[in-house]
Amino acid sequence: MEKCVMLDPLLYSDELEEAHLIDLRLMLIEKSIMTYKTDCWIWQGGQSGNGYGQIYWPSSDRKCESAHRVSWIAFNGPITDGLWVLHKCNNKLCVRPDHLYLGTPQDNVDDREAHIAKVMLKLKARETRSFLRRF
Ligand SMILES: [Zn+2]
Repeated sequence: MEKCVMLDPLLYSDELEEAHLIDLRLMLIEKSIMTYKTDCWIWQGGQSGNGYGQIYWPSSDRKCESAHRVSWIAFNGPITDGLWVLHKCNNKLCVRPDHLYLGTPQDNVDDREAHIAKVMLKLKARETRSFLRRF
């Protein structure tokens, strides 16, 4: 799989103009597919080693920027210093703007722990049901 999706050179400026933002939003939509169950927009471009979508973003210090961070910038504006763009849907490849929120690294840990607890409860309920079925 390709490592990064390269953006149109028009989008490379630090101060994105409205027309470029619209191009950026369209590109995010075009390069994603919507899932039926969760309505997530699943990024179909490059992926990082840790499973996030990636976009080549030369105005960033890093050459590759996470697709969900670019989506936040394109739809919601700049990312407040010190905050992370987190997923409400726990889907690392999702770039749907209303599935994203700004939070602290601690919010990210709390969110992940809450998600794990939910999955564990589901598994426990399933195990209990299959155990009870044996009697
Ligand atoms: Zn999502």
